[in-house]
Amino acid sequence: MYQQWRNQIMSEINNDFIPFAKPLISEEEEQAVLRIMRSGWLTTGSETLAFEKEFSSFVSAPFAFAVNSATSGLHLALEAAGVGQGDTVITSPYTFASTAAVVHHLGAKVVFCDTEVESFNIDPQKLAEILKTTKHCKAVIPVHVGGLPCKMNEIVSLAHQYGCTVIEDAAHAFPVTYNGKYIGTIGDIGVYSFYATKTITTGEGGMVVTASEKIAKRIKTMRLHGIDRDVWNRYTSKGATWYYEVLDAGFKYNLPDILSAIGRVQLKKANDFKTQRTAIAEAYNSAFSAIKGCLLPPGNSAEDHAWHLYSLRILHEAKLSRDELIEALTNAGIGTSVHFIPLHLMPFYAKTYHYKPDDFPNAVKHFNSVVSLPIWHGMNNNQVHRIIETIQTLLQ
Ligand SMILES: *Cc1c(COP(=O)(O)O)cnc(C)c1O
Repeated sequence: MYQQWRNQIMSEINNDFIPFAKPLISEEEEQAVLRIMRSGWLTTGSETLAFEKEFSSFVSAPFAFAVNSATSGLHLALEAAGVGQGDTVITSPYTFASTAAVVHHLGAKVVFCDTEVESFNIDPQKLAEILKTTKHCKAVIPVHVGGLPCKMNEIVSLAHQYGCTVIEDAAHAFPVTYNGKYIGTIGDIGVYSFYATKTITTGEGGMVVTASEKIAKRIKTMRLHGIDRDVWNRYTSKGATWYYEVLDAGFKYNLPDILSAIGRVQLKKANDFKTQRTAIAEAYNSAFSAIKGCLLPPGNSAEDHAWHLYSLRILHEAKLSRDELIEALTNAGIGTSVHFIPLHLMPFYAKTYHYKPDDFPNAVKHFNSVVSLPIWHGMNNNQVHRIIETIQTLLQ
């Protein structure tokens, strides 16, 4: 009896809880997975090839490689850029752990560059100063935080001036354009994420794109055990399908067909999903612009934005502190998150590089003020309005 009552209460609570993120999966994705399950071929095959082809044509990138995560994709990108022992790679501390961890996997060192005052993205002026004094810099990784494009014109021209490869961490930035080109295709290599909370999802997964044939060849080989498929093809054409050559100690980073099937359906919906998120962002912006102590997310209406995150900044003059607001929203059944806790504050990076919190003051300032609100395609109007009204009640 008690258990039944308790379950009922819990389900009521759960029903009106608005999660911070939720994937939108329909019967079409379910049918696509079933089709692969029944096909007799589960791992990387024709479905993944089709996904790569459709993705590369979507963003107009000559080469696209499906991988099992963006983390794997970033690792492959740095490896293909020739990053190794003794090299350095510049990125922003205002990112997720994987952007910097993969640099360490290759035995290279991370150099952090602070964000802009007005946005969560890497500051090109600070990048210029850091490039001047950084030895053996092989690559720069701009992160398009929340889906707002970095200042790519400045970043690419600076990085190339110093012979650095530009690897775009576009984990938040699909689909979004900058000067008419898709983010991810502006640097030398672009990496997208299909993690469960991202703008399209395969559960786990990612895509690496490039226009360079040389980089493409290396990524293709290293993605699957270092086996050169061209060698394979040469021999298959003569009928010896069992033959292959291992050219290097490669990784196991391929995306299976079961997941590519989900990705192909999600890709078709990517623009529609974005339209839905943009409408939520516009509703939030118009409601929160009137609240004292609330700073809207960076970006202006002239710029394209993927709206993966809606990060509101809570300033000192607001009625509640950022932490108090998060607690009050949790109590009101609204899930939130914080993007990001800067990496230089993390024990590993602080210890390895002797970083102090105020080494990157803009990143720390952003971190202390931000709260990310739910902004997922599939949220209904009632949910959006409940969030707006709750925040208005709390802060006005
Ligand atoms: C999610 C994320 C990644 C990693 O993506 P995975 O597909 O989970 O490996 C990398 N960078 C940023 C900025 C991210 O948010």
